[in-house]
Amino acid sequence: MLGRDKICAVVAAAKSQAMHRQLARALRETRTAELRLDWLADDQEITRFLKRLADTRLRAGATLIATCRRREAGGRYRGSIAKQLVHLSEAVRAGCAWYDLEIESASKCPPELLDVLLGEGRELRSAHFFQGMPRNLKRVVAELERGRPDAIKVAAQCDSLADSLKVARLSRTRRNVVAIPMGEVGLPVRFLMLRERGGVAYAPVENTTAPGQISLEEMKNLYRADHFDGRTGVYGVIGDPIGHSLSPQMQNAAFEARRINAVYLPFLVHDLGDFLGAVEELRIRGFSVTIPHKERILRHLDGCDPLAAKIGAVNTVVVRGGGKLYGYNTDYVSVLRALEPRIPLRGSRVLIVGAGGAARAVAFALAEAGATVCIFARRREKAKSLARAAGGEAVARNQLRREYFDAIVNATPVGMHPNVGRSPLEARELNCRLVFDTIYRPRATKLLQLAARRGIETISGDEMFIAQGAAQWEIWTGERAPVEAMRRAVVRALKREEKGR
Ligand code: NAP
Repeated sequence: MLGRDKICAVVAAAKSQAMHRQLARALRETRTAELRLDWLADDQEITRFLKRLADTRLRAGATLIATCRRREAGGRYRGSIAKQLVHLSEAVRAGCAWYDLEIESASKCPPELLDVLLGEGRELRSAHFFQGMPRNLKRVVAELERGRPDAIKVAAQCDSLADSLKVARLSRTRRNVVAIPMGEVGLPVRFLMLRERGGVAYAPVENTTAPGQISLEEMKNLYRADHFDGRTGVYGVIGDPIGHSLSPQMQNAAFEARRINAVYLPFLVHDLGDFLGAVEELRIRGFSVTIPHKERILRHLDGCDPLAAKIGAVNTVVVRGGGKLYGYNTDYVSVLRALEPRIPLRGSRVLIVGAGGAARAVAFALAEAGATVCIFARRREKAKSLARAAGGEAVARNQLRREYFDAIVNATPVGMHPNVGRSPLEARELNCRLVFDTIYRPRATKLLQLAARRGIETISGDEMFIAQGAAQWEIWTGERAPVEAMRRAVVRALKREEKGR
């Protein structure tokens, strides 16, 4: 609606030169960009930037939106409204087709003044609610429309999908409305609005200018959001927290490798009811489930794979006709895929550390494959109960130094980033042929380092992670998963993270 593109790059920097550099980067990815003049250090820097903009050929064919949001409206500009208008008018003269004027400033300016100063540009009149949803969205829209701008923008911090959808519906029912549910919870809704005609999402080139924004690079290359249309299939992962999940990298790489028009998004879900209430409207076809919802989801399902029911945890859900939900557990098969090529499981004795959701999947998978499972957990009762259910035995910590196992599996988060210096077991307790750590961040956990130092074979959790993800993808699509593409995406992301630490 603002331009022809679905993605509007946000260019924001303190120095004119850096703004130009960002703009050049932005226009290689999309032809629509918002210029956050208010991020520039002072009035001189804004004028410097706009002078150079007027002279540059860079902007040819691009749709530029100038924003100089004042502090009272959540921006960074400290000058007066008069100065703000002067900058916006310089921006229009420098080639910006649009200017964004917040309602706080617009309501204090006579329309004639705006017409004289900014008449050549198109006005996007905006209202921002950084603290939460406004009580009455309709009234907000009516106020914004009062000045007869060319388009309006409503951005509101949303802490639920229900609120995010309320905001999103604004642009569905009216033309020339940019609706933005801000924040991490609203992120999938912002994406999914791009399936509709005229949908637009803001993406920063470098600096995040609003809560929960996704970078331009990720939006284009990870989510391929510029290709969304009405037929784009929607999948995702629900969890709390969710920002750290590598599933989007892995699953989107699979869709891209198989040229399937689908996207996989991270859903920050505090409240399962809120998410489940949005599944139909968002047209979600399937989702992964992670901490802390793997067990809770069971009571919301219409059907469940018997194995997942036995484990008592679901990590994969398929949405079938009529919005019916069916649950599976792919952690189960992934344990076998990681271990079976390394050791014969039938007749083996395996120690599992932990008694939570992952430990349950590991215990049932190994027992089913013919191994004897031994469980050690900090809460003896939990260890005993899992051992009983899986036909194994609970072991106490003081037994570990004396016992030998074919394999030891860590199914606790001990040693996971950021607590990388910790190990659930000491070196002298590692009396086995193989140690498998289900943690994949980092790949070389302290536990695996201790094992390697003793000459014990090690397996990192990334193998299990890729295998469980591939099994999910196959359940959703009915096709063979492109495992190598998924592995490459995960390894690339993990390496990048490890470098950044
Ligand atoms: P969970 O249900 O919360 O269970 C965690 C288990 O670890 C519980 O037994 C818990 O004991 C124990 N634990 C937690 N902190 C501990 C500590 N400081 N010392 C000793 N024991 C501790 O979580 P989950 O879903 O099973 O996940 C556990 C881990 O498995 C995750 O951190 C993840 O890295 C890994 N995982 C990996 C994959 C993969 O694909 N690679 C898949 C699933 C899970 P209490 O009950 O006493 O709290």
